Order: sequence, then structure tokens, then C-alpha cells
Amino acid sequence: MEVGLQLTDGMENMDRPYDVIIAGAGLSGLSLAWQIRQSGMRELRILLIDQANKQVNDRTWCWWERGSGPFEPLVYRSWDTIRVTSADGKAMQIPLGSYRYKMIRGIDMYRFMEEVVHGDPNILRLTEPIESIHPEDQFVHVRTASGSWTGLHLFDSTHRMPMTDPHSRHLLQHFLGYVIQSPTPVFTPQVPDLMNFHVPETGDCRFIYILPFSETEALVEYTLFTGELLKRDEYVKPLEQWINQHLGLSSYRILEEEFGVIPMSDEPVSEFPHPRVTRIGTAGGYTNPATGYTFATTQKRLGQLVRHFLQTGQWQAGTPIRHRRFDLYASVLLDVLSNGDVAASKVFWDLYRHNPIDRVFRFLDGESTFGEELRLMLTTPYLPFTKAGGQVLRRRIL
Ligand SMILES: Cc1cc2nc3c(=O)[nH]c(=O)nc-3n(C[C@H](O)[C@H](O)[C@H](O)COP(=O)(O)OP(=O)(O)OC[C@H]3O[C@@H](n4cnc5c(N)ncnc54)[C@H](O)[C@@H]3O)c2cc1C
Repeated sequence: MEVGLQLTDGMENMDRPYDVIIAGAGLSGLSLAWQIRQSGMRELRILLIDQANKQVNDRTWCWWERGSGPFEPLVYRSWDTIRVTSADGKAMQIPLGSYRYKMIRGIDMYRFMEEVVHGDPNILRLTEPIESIHPEDQFVHVRTASGSWTGLHLFDSTHRMPMTDPHSRHLLQHFLGYVIQSPTPVFTPQVPDLMNFHVPETGDCRFIYILPFSETEALVEYTLFTGELLKRDEYVKPLEQWINQHLGLSSYRILEEEFGVIPMSDEPVSEFPHPRVTRIGTAGGYTNPATGYTFATTQKRLGQLVRHFLQTGQWQAGTPIRHRRFDLYASVLLDVLSNGDVAASKVFWDLYRHNPIDRVFRFLDGESTFGEELRLMLTTPYLPFTKAGGQVLRRRIL
């Protein structure tokens, strides 16, 4: 394998395929390039293509973790306690034990990763939309405005789940948040609000999420798990009303805004749609369908794929992302949330109220034992979950 070749245009590339083409340089694409380099494979030639230059702080990533992880220097804030609040305003503070809830700002991650990419002679970064991807037996070809690019393997984070399968449940996690600066101290910087259901009753799943940075600064987000997006005004009004009524703020500075949509669907995802194409990130099924969390699974799964390649020379690992029973649990929860037979606020309140937090986190990470899962199930509203379980099984059998 040759080292140090700087490629400048698509035609030149036609002669020498890249070892890896990464379509989409967001969380999973950049993390993959970084993980490949971290593993010691410095000569692997990588082409990284994204339509955006990733110079904006377009999202925050939170996840829970024990001890320090590889991204510790990038962690903007971390907390050892979280709070969940019921629909009638009862607040429960949950100490996280050996876990911490951590947050990285998107822009910090992008800058860190881009620095790694920028200084690497074997990585070419292209800022262009991808027009098409054509895998063949020996190679995979990608077309952009400036040319055609050839690689041995392509990792695709640009594919969008269609969410049209009539036998699957489809919800969206959508949210609008403001990073606000208040003139008076109103936040508890030590405790983020994971789910605050003390919002006007609408019959579906809505809550406020708060990441406090100081007594006067926080990201406050109005979040929904529902089937349809809203008009902008329908996020803005309840968010601003909540800030006004619950924080007592009539005037404050909005420093930043975050809007996001995360698919929550149990539609089957094809992680390996072709021997030369691997889908990664949300496109690869890394997003937990029941919670929307993706960050930690992205790092874990990419680590598995890189290790598998080091051992076998093949990118496509035979092991699944998570055991299939966790997909089943996620489907049941999606059904419960979609059916509306029980308030979502009760489901989540019961989950956090009646289970030790490490059991909940291990369950959400797909790392719990079957015994722990049974104990967790016993704390959920029995009838709605049994009914949803029956519906999920029937759909799967049919
Ligand atoms: C606002 C927001 C906040 C989130 N917060 C959390 C969180 O706190 N914790 C958590 O675990 N998860 C969170 N998520 C979910 C998930 O972690 C993120 O969506 C994450 O960015 C997914 O990584 P990805 O690589 O799959 O997609 P992305 O990071 O979106 O990367 C995909 C890339 O592909 C590029 N692209 C798409 N189409 C093309 C094309 N045709 N040509 C070229 N480039 C293309 C895009 O520009 C983008 O850069 C959040 C999501 C959003 C939207």
C-alpha cells in the first residue's frame, strides 16, 4: 500500500482506489476516520465527503459513561445527578453512582476531528454533495460534482431510513432548544433535567430537557416523541411559555438555537446493504429506536468494525449491533408510546422511580442481563405493555 499520496482531483483518483470512502463527515463519519487512525492504521487512504464544512455548532451530544472515555478533553459539562419530573410537577433527583452524564458541543467535536483529518496526508476531505453511490464486485464508485471517486469499501452515513414500512412503528424525536442567558440565577448547574413532564397536557409525549451550564446559562429544549413535525411556532410558544412560567423569566438572551429530528423507528435497517458498503451512524441502525441516543453506540460499533478489520481484513462484522431482544423491547416501547394507552410521563417516571439507574443505563445500552430486564419490565404499567407486546409479536409473525 502506498503512503503519503496527495490526491487533488477525481480523475487522478480513478487510477488508484481509496481504501475507504466515508460518505458524510458528521458524527459517525468523522469518528470512523478518527478510530481508524487511533487503531494505528495510518497508511489506509481515506476519502471523506460531506456537503457541509461542519463549522457550526449544530447539535450537542450527551451520553452516560463510567470513568473517563476517549473524548474526555472535549467534554463541555458532565453531571453526577440527573432529574426527572412527573406530569404533576414531582421532581426526583437521581444520583448516577459510577456513571456521569456527559455533554460535548458539536462544534468542539467537529474541530477536534477536522484537525486530525486536516493534518493527515492520507485523508482527502471533499466538501461537495454526493450525487450517487454505485457498488460493484471489486470497487465502489461515488459521484460528486467534481468527479467520480473509487474506493474498495464505502461507509455511508448519508442514507436516510425511509420509515415507510407499514409493519413498523415510526415516531420522531423532535425538539427546539434555546441556549439562554438569564439576568438572574435560575438554574441548578449540578443537575440536568433529563425529562421534565410538567408541561401542558396534550395526550402525547412532550417534555422539557435542560442542560445547565451555570446558574444563569442553560440549553432548554422542548422535546416531543410524536409522528409528525410541528410548525416552528408550535415549538416556540410552549418553549417560551415554559421558560416564562417555570423559570420566571420574561427577558433573557438567546445565545444559540438547536433544532433536531431523530428517527425513532423499528423499521429493519440494513447495516451491510452490499459487500462493499457499510452503513454507519443513524443510517446503520446505531440510534436506539426507543430513546434516540446514538453517540455511545456509534463509538462502540465503529470500534468493533475497526477491530474486526484489523483481525480479518474484512470491514463487515458478523455480530449484530445489539442483541435482537433489545430491538423487540424497543418495538414494544414504541408501540406503547404510539398507542397512547398510558401516559408517556408515567412510563418514564415509573422506569426511573422503580429501578436503580445502572440497571436502566445498562438496559438502554443493550448490556443488561435477562434477569435485569425482567425486573425492569415488572416496573412498567402491566396492561399497556402486555397489549403492545402482543401487537409487536403479531406484526413480526405476520
Ligand atoms: C440536534 C441533535 C441533537 C442530538 N443530540 C444527541 C445526544 O445528545 N445524544 C445522542 O446520543 N444522540 C443525539 N443525537 C442523535 C445522533 O447522535 C446525531 O444525529 C448524530 O449526528 C448522528 O450521526 P450520523 O453520523 O449518523 O449523522 P450526522 O452527524 O448527521 O452526519 C451525516 C452527514 O452526512 C452529510 N450528508 C448527508 N447527505 C449528504 C450528501 N448527499 N452528500 C454529502 N454529505 C451528505 C451531512 O451533511 C452530515 O454531516 C442528536 C441529533 C440531533 C439532530
